[in-house]
Amino acid sequence: MFTDWQAFRAAFLNQLQSMHGKSLEEASPEDKYTALAVMVREYISNAWVQTNKHYENKGEKQVYYFSIEFLIGRLLGANLLNIGVRSEWEKWLAELGIDLNQLENEEPDAGLGNGGLGRLAACFLDSMASLQLPCHGCGIRYKYGLFEQKILDGYQVEHPDNWLKNGCMWEIRKFDKAVQVKFGGTVWSEEKNGKLVFHHDNAQTVLAVPYDIPVIGYQNSTVNTLRLWSAETVQEDFDLLAFNQGNYVKAVEYKYSIESISEILYPDDSHYEGRVLRLKQQYFLVSAGLQSIVRRFKKKHGSILDFAEKISIHINDTHPAMAIPELMRILMDEEGLSWNEAWQITKNTIAYTNHTILPEALEKWPVDIMKSLLPRIFMIIEELNKQFCSHLWSHYPGDWQRIASMAIIADNYVHMAHLAVVGSYSINGVAKIHTNILKQDVMKNFYHFYPYKFNNKTNGITHRRWLLKANPDLARLITNSISPSWIYYPQYLSTLLRYSEDAAFLEALDKIKETNKMNFANWVHNKYGITIDGSSIFDVHVKRIHAYKRQLMNALRILELYTRLKENPNLEMVPRTFIFAGKAAPGYFLAKRVIKLITTLAAVINNDSTIQGKMKVLFLENYSVSLAEMIFPAADVSEQISTASKEASGTGNMKFMMNGAVTIGTLDGANIEIHEEVGDDNIVIFGLTAKEVMNYYQNGGYRPWELVQSDTRLRKLLDQLVNGSLPVPREEFRVLYDSLVNSDEFFVLKDYAAYVEAQEKIDMLYRDNSRWNKMCLSNIAHSGKFSSDRTISEYAIGIWKAKPVVIGDILEPY
Ligand SMILES: *Cc1c(COP(=O)(O)O)cnc(C)c1O
Repeated sequence: MFTDWQAFRAAFLNQLQSMHGKSLEEASPEDKYTALAVMVREYISNAWVQTNKHYENKGEKQVYYFSIEFLIGRLLGANLLNIGVRSEWEKWLAELGIDLNQLENEEPDAGLGNGGLGRLAACFLDSMASLQLPCHGCGIRYKYGLFEQKILDGYQVEHPDNWLKNGCMWEIRKFDKAVQVKFGGTVWSEEKNGKLVFHHDNAQTVLAVPYDIPVIGYQNSTVNTLRLWSAETVQEDFDLLAFNQGNYVKAVEYKYSIESISEILYPDDSHYEGRVLRLKQQYFLVSAGLQSIVRRFKKKHGSILDFAEKISIHINDTHPAMAIPELMRILMDEEGLSWNEAWQITKNTIAYTNHTILPEALEKWPVDIMKSLLPRIFMIIEELNKQFCSHLWSHYPGDWQRIASMAIIADNYVHMAHLAVVGSYSINGVAKIHTNILKQDVMKNFYHFYPYKFNNKTNGITHRRWLLKANPDLARLITNSISPSWIYYPQYLSTLLRYSEDAAFLEALDKIKETNKMNFANWVHNKYGITIDGSSIFDVHVKRIHAYKRQLMNALRILELYTRLKENPNLEMVPRTFIFAGKAAPGYFLAKRVIKLITTLAAVINNDSTIQGKMKVLFLENYSVSLAEMIFPAADVSEQISTASKEASGTGNMKFMMNGAVTIGTLDGANIEIHEEVGDDNIVIFGLTAKEVMNYYQNGGYRPWELVQSDTRLRKLLDQLVNGSLPVPREEFRVLYDSLVNSDEFFVLKDYAAYVEAQEKIDMLYRDNSRWNKMCLSNIAHSGKFSSDRTISEYAIGIWKAKPVVIGDILEPY
């Protein structure tokens, strides 16, 4: 496209002029960002069109990944990198006096997700395109993403995330591809030519308008599509109210009530939100997504009968599980298939990923709500349930208890996980231990009935964003040492092991970490005015704030260490900087109080000169993809301390590992597989196992109060929460204290001693600098398995049977 700087310069200046009517001198950083984004868009536009053409013509199987969240973050930097022009354009921009990094920071994060689940979907898109797979994302274009978190007086306050206020540079509105989604009303049927025909009267119709975002593969000319749906009023409905009925105000109210469907992302992580609007969002997503897929399919194939051979629909958790009855509805009511024909197609099209075993996260919708909001969908679910239960009856005659535990509708609720299991051909967990718990425990009856459906796909992260982009110095060292092959084949990172005894390499690794830590420390200083010691251990605990993730255990250890340091200022320890970040769900009282505890500790410890700067505590505001990209490269220690059995996989653990941090963690989720990869010497494992935890649960928990009574250290520590020694009202942390001593559902106290010991081991290991560097190297070298390229190839081969489609050389690399 641009053969030299002159051509690039002319195009950029022209873009500034035509978009903003400004010269380079007049243009603001935001103007420059948008101009550059448009240049990227133009650059890939032909490849995008060609990719879609190839998919139409080749007739290869297409995969659609349905997810209620896509936490994609910023796109400019990642897009430039994937196109293969980032370093060249960076250089050219620098010659114009422009810092590319600064322009990249102008882009608002697309925060259309809460945490791990949404970020997984975003990493998957990157891997799908980079592996040249014909796979597309399907989601909701929330007008407001996850709230922006600020800390005020030590407390979390939520602000709306108006990420679209200046428009999104990457989306293309496709009004001609809009479809209608129906809610409410009544359904009746009549017999016509021996067939039941269904009619849906008095429904409220919502127009679903797609916005397409390009998903650019890594230097391969593939440009896939992430299609996000936005809710709008059908124009005639508005006109009818406003003009024909003369009620303009009512018409405007009506418009807002319709648009509210895609207004906000629900801010709950690991806790299902039972509101009607959420149910509307879920149906809106699947109905719009499926209608557009079926429409496109029919245009190409004419007949719908081989749909399942040509299409896979993947549902990311149960939020899109209504894809099952909705596909049945479309096939029967709109395409005229029989129930049996529709069922054959549906159950061979849909595949389901389970993400959690936390009971409070399992979705169930009250029958009467679903019945009135989605009458036809409910009828289909009811019929499915009837057939499934009678099927079960013939396999397990008389075993009512088993059948009731598996029914789709039970106790006046629709159980979405059961619907997902019955209606899909594949069910996967997201790490080995998680899949085993599904098979042996949470879904054991289903596993007994459908053993062939269950499989594991351990999560992964895109090494392009999380290493190549986030940690350019480390990426350069790796490329210079082992060639750029690792970018295409991340498992090739294992060849780094040949440097395990290479002092110069380990030294270089150490230097990079030091530089990253210094840069981060400078950023912290500029933003918060807090000075942190670049030679201290950066001990990082970043993720959603949730009781099972046990930020409270870390905070208690910090309080104890601080107390010991006060008593003995000469205590032998490597200075540590404890870094926290994470959002709490706005209604999650306990999690918000944990934030207050951490910020209180920070206020006390950071201002205490008697400990000679040996400890610092930071709570960074507004954990998001871009903040995460800054933190991981600077981390020494990765806190992965969830109660064993609770974290299905975790993906933060993988990002840390890939950036050379050492994990302190429990045998939970993917920590277990990280441990398998790096071995005992390169990770610090502690605490109860999942088996032990689950045994306690089955026997009514344990008695934390007895533990506290018998353990003076623990008693003294817990007392500090409520005895007025912290500069907060005396009752401030009473709820935390009570949650621990009364039930300690997440075994914080039970695991506490083991955690302290593990932390002392970290301190000891860090003192041996060359040993520590080897541990870092081992983690980086073994991180290839945790690339989402590996995960996505496993999905493509094992679940979707999808093959790569080579687009050719449309984007010529320079
Ligand atoms: C990776 C990531 C997560 C998930 O972190 P876990 O430690 O696996 O819970 C959440 N939020 C953001 C912004 C992330 O990048």
